[in-house]
Amino acid sequence: MRIGCHISVAGGYAKAVERAEALGAECFQYFSKSPRMLRFTKNINYEDAAAGRERAQTLGLPTLAHAPYLINLAAPDDDLRRASADALLWDLQVAHARGTEAVVVHCGKHVGAGVPAALAWMRESLARVLGEDNTGVRLLLENTAGQGTEMGTTVDELLSLVDGLAGPERLGFCLDTQHAFAAGVLNPLEPGGLAAVQAPAFRERLHAIHLNDSKVEAGHRADRHALVGQGHIGDAGLLRLVTEPSWHTLPFYLETPVSDEAQYRGEMAHIRRLLAEAR
Ligand SMILES: [Zn+2]
Ligand SMILES: [Zn+2]
Repeated sequence: MRIGCHISVAGGYAKAVERAEALGAECFQYFSKSPRMLRFTKNINYEDAAAGRERAQTLGLPTLAHAPYLINLAAPDDDLRRASADALLWDLQVAHARGTEAVVVHCGKHVGAGVPAALAWMRESLARVLGEDNTGVRLLLENTAGQGTEMGTTVDELLSLVDGLAGPERLGFCLDTQHAFAAGVLNPLEPGGLAAVQAPAFRERLHAIHLNDSKVEAGHRADRHALVGQGHIGDAGLLRLVTEPSWHTLPFYLETPVSDEAQYRGEMAHIRRLLAEAR
């Protein structure tokens, strides 16, 4: 397995690659633009993108772009739904310029319109994005903790969002372990607690893991990440996750609530220590 973390691109992409390397990350994720903004204000800096892309390629460092949280592909409001799809199309362009294989986006929120209507809107948005995108960058839907009106909490719902739209190489999933634990979908501390996410139809579309511990207990439906080993998943649960044989080829990205990026060095070391002790 490969262990990496989230890196800020505030100082440019090439610098982010350098910092990921310095921290010893084996893969890294970044926000394709400010996470709380939908509209993009800057053009792509192709020079910076190419410099970072080349360095990451030389290092063999896989990267993942995370779309802004404000994107709601399932929004009942037509304008917001359209703006969300436009924003995502832009993120795919940014990722492409940087040599990034995939963009992760959260499943939408139905904001009171109900799940069936929102599922249809989200599928319509995804079909539009996949139809208009010319980059070939993979799109990954991230499972949610099921907070508020979030969709994409269960494996069945995630599968119904993508069914028939595109193949696993084009449209897949990123599994956030904290969200899945809080949603009651995954519990590495229980026998058979990984069964739901091992469904073949889900596994064949699974391309990345967000490895996070949880401040809330299993099934408590809140998006609250904890530092590794300091939450309710704990060392035993994290070890079970990073040694899952069918996931050994996947990149694991930490998104734990570190006070600064340098703290990820210790977070990654913690996981490597668990692995070494288990050998
Ligand atoms: Zn996310
Ligand atoms: Zn996540």
